[in-house]
Amino acid sequence: MVKLVFLGPPGAGKGTQASLIADIYKVPHISTGDILRSNVAEKSPLGIKAKDYMDKGDLVPDQLILDMVKERLENPNAQNGWILDGFPRTVTQAEEFFKKYESEGEEAKSSSSFHVINLQVPDDVLVARLLSRKREDDQEETIRNRLQVYYQQTQPLIEFYQAREQLIIIDGNNPIETVTNAIKQEVDKIT
Ligand code: AMP
Repeated sequence: MVKLVFLGPPGAGKGTQASLIADIYKVPHISTGDILRSNVAEKSPLGIKAKDYMDKGDLVPDQLILDMVKERLENPNAQNGWILDGFPRTVTQAEEFFKKYESEGEEAKSSSSFHVINLQVPDDVLVARLLSRKREDDQEETIRNRLQVYYQQTQPLIEFYQAREQLIIIDGNNPIETVTNAIKQEVDKIT
């Protein structure tokens, strides 16, 4: 069963690769950023709460994200695998998410365990990529803040998952197809 978390700074290609890999293994691509953006567009209660954080490039509070992800993973189409893109983003999110697995029995734990793909891309390449996108939160100041938020709050997850032997490091500074093939090779080894 394919269960993957895509980690990496903004602009690393998480969304692109997560979507391609989800198509290959026929599992849902669950992007917390996409879910939040559609909530903002619909002006749902969650969207109204999340908008200001997103506009600034700050993280949306953990509890809102945890509730949102829990609900999405309970959907019947997420019972045979998934790809999470953009979650977890903080150690609190990762710990709470881990507890869900810990609370299941040994057998369930091994069949439901997941791996974490970390896409590595140098900073100057990230900024250039983000500046060439046309998303509302891709203004230069917001980009700088998103990178800073990533280094402060999300990068510690690399060690968190390395210590749990769940981490797979992929060089993301390559053409899209090369990166997809590198991920696919690793996924085929573990599934
Ligand atoms: P992304 O599309 O993954 O770059 O996410 C866009 C924005 O949504 C981020 O800058 C955050 O404001 C918010 N966001 C997405 N995922 C999370 C998360 N796991 N935790 C907190 N905020 C998130």
